[in-house]
Amino acid sequence: MLPYTPGEQPPPGKFIKLNTNENPYPPAESVVAAIKNAASGPLNRYPDPTATLFRRAAAETLGLPGPDWILAGNGSDEILTILVRGFVGEGQKLRLPYPSYILYRTLADIQGAKWEQVPFLDGWHLPSVFGEGDRDLRLVLLPNPNSPSGTVVPPDQVERLAASLPCPLVVDEAYADFAEFNCLDLVRKHENILVTRTLSKSYGLAGIRFGFLVAQPSLIAKLANIKDSYNCDYLATIAATAAISAQDWLADVIAKIKATRSRTESRLREMGFDVTPSQANFVWCTHPSGRHEQLHEYLKKNQILVRYMNFPDWGDGIRISIGTDEQTEACMMMIERYLQSL
Ligand code: PMP
Repeated sequence: MLPYTPGEQPPPGKFIKLNTNENPYPPAESVVAAIKNAASGPLNRYPDPTATLFRRAAAETLGLPGPDWILAGNGSDEILTILVRGFVGEGQKLRLPYPSYILYRTLADIQGAKWEQVPFLDGWHLPSVFGEGDRDLRLVLLPNPNSPSGTVVPPDQVERLAASLPCPLVVDEAYADFAEFNCLDLVRKHENILVTRTLSKSYGLAGIRFGFLVAQPSLIAKLANIKDSYNCDYLATIAATAAISAQDWLADVIAKIKATRSRTESRLREMGFDVTPSQANFVWCTHPSGRHEQLHEYLKKNQILVRYMNFPDWGDGIRISIGTDEQTEACMMMIERYLQSL
């Protein structure tokens, strides 16, 4: 089995941490206040098994017909686990693009399922063969924006892909708040398009563990039957509910991160990197020197953590999460120093 190795999580304070695409800014004040208030709540009782409070608020914020279009989970990783468990049995097939989110393959392995990786074409376009043919396919997973590239498959193409499939298409929108498009509206039109979202990235709540699925109510009801009984704890549900209601805060933070992203892309290009234009809160870059692993080590020695990624039969590179302006600039200066030392 291919184990999933999460990004390094060192004790707080030691590193400028640009390796796991968290939000560099703390969550909205209303979220912190809600958590403090909730500490005097009914902690001796089990939480609401379906996080109704959150689902109601999210349905309203996202313009969905009702809370029955949402399944809440302990991070979108748990939602992905539920989806793979729900749709793909032993020996059955799941398809995903390559390179993309490595966890999908581990989830398939846990089920004893077979995974097929379809390589992206140049420019991170999906090949037409991606959804074609195989009537035995049970699930397709598409991170959109993709990681590590930060690129997006536009909704019209997602729609065509879904129409060509004999199975559900999960659009993993962990980073969609930073992108130009998303596929949320497609869920109402197509029973086989399902969208996952997280509070870990744009909402600045990676430490809280809260994610959710948007799909048609009949699917949500089926998947709810196979989730753990109390998968969203009381404090997380309160925090997530406050967060999804703080849309003005969200818009400000996204604007700041996008501005820093654009400066980061320019700085890296000036230093000779090939930078994939990103629609997420990270950038994927490669340098003609090819010394990506060494650069990662150099940065780490200098208390800056970025992600070195090596995809067999494809290549390697560096993924840098967008931090505050100061953090990102410190990273750029250290990269400059490394390149001068070559
Ligand atoms: N999908 C993608 C593409 C991701 O990069 C991540 C973050 N590792 C997740 C889902 C999971 O995020 P979380 O479990 O924090 O919601």
